[in-house]
Formats: sequence, structure tokens, C-alpha cells
Amino acid sequence: MKINRKFLGIVSAVFLCGLFAFIPVEKKVVVIDAAHGGDDFGADLQGLQEKVIVEKIAKLVKAQNKNENLEIVLLREGDHFMELSERVSIINNLSPNLVISLHINSSPNINKNGVEAYISSNKTFYNQSKTNAEVLVDKVAGNYFSKSEVKEAPFYILKNSNCPALTLEVGYLSNVNDRNYITSEKGQSEIAAKILESLK
Ligand SMILES: [Zn+2]
Repeated sequence: MKINRKFLGIVSAVFLCGLFAFIPVEKKVVVIDAAHGGDDFGADLQGLQEKVIVEKIAKLVKAQNKNENLEIVLLREGDHFMELSERVSIINNLSPNLVISLHINSSPNINKNGVEAYISSNKTFYNQSKTNAEVLVDKVAGNYFSKSEVKEAPFYILKNSNCPALTLEVGYLSNVNDRNYITSEKGQSEIAAKILESLK
């Protein structure tokens, strides 16, 4: 009797393992929205443009992604202008698990620095957006940037996307420490890696 039970246990374990191997894992789809583009430079200082920096980071996120259960979709892959409504209609057709709208901050106060995130006050995806935003701010800031609380903002993409969505402001172009990091190859690559880490 004992042996039979043991045998049955092994048979069912093997069967279950086999079964799980065939259940497809649902892919997590994350849209990276590199903000601005074309004539819209975004923050612009000493020949450095927000649109260029966020496009580079977005492309690195896609290139560095080795997780086969995660699909990174880039909204803007070249340097061209895109209406916000066009971005939202692509997002809502895809209905991804998350949208990250990537921006770089700027301020007349050159001491202002750090990583910030914004979400919509819309309650449907509020909790998911907030949790993702908190993880992203924490990871991306790491030991380099200062970080602040996730704030609510009535941004068009956040308000109109039918999925969890957030705006991530990766440092200030107007602050010399932030600027040196976000415009360096090393900094951009590390930021991309930390964004990917946050999506696990
Ligand atoms: Zn921007």
C-alpha cells in the first residue's frame, strides 16, 4: 500500500510537471512612450534635447530585454512628431499591461533634481499605476538620483489610456549632476536596465 501511494505520487508529479510545461505563460506587454519628437524637442539645454535622450533610453530598454515573458513596445522609434491622440489610440489598440511615458525634467532652479512619477487620478487603474510608479521611481533613482512621492497629474496620455499608465521623469536636464548622468552612455544604459528590473 505504501509503495503504491509513493508510486502514484511520483506519477502524478511527473504528469503535473508535463502539464505545466505546456501551459503558455501570458506575456506582459509594456509600452514605452518616448515623449516629444520632431519639432517638439521637450526640454532643451546646451544642444541637449529631451526627445533624443528619452528615445535612446527607450531603445535601450527594448534592446536589453532578455525576458521572453515580457514584450517591450516602443511608441516612437524615430525622431518624428506624434500627436498625443495618436499615441493614445496606439496604446488603446494594444491594451498593454502598462504604459511608461518617458520624460526628462527641467527647471529654472538648477538645484532641483531627481526622479519623479505621475499618475492619473482616474480610479480604474489607480492602484496598479501607483504601485508600478513607486517601484520605478525607487529602482531608477537607485543611489544616484533623489526621488519624490508619486503625484497625480491630468496628463492627456495618463487620462486617456485604458490601462495602467505613468509618466516617469528621469532627472533634470537643468541640474548638472542629473544632466551628466542622463546624457552619458553609461547612465542611459543603467537607467534602461533599472526600468527593466522594475518590470519583473
Ligand atoms: Zn517632456
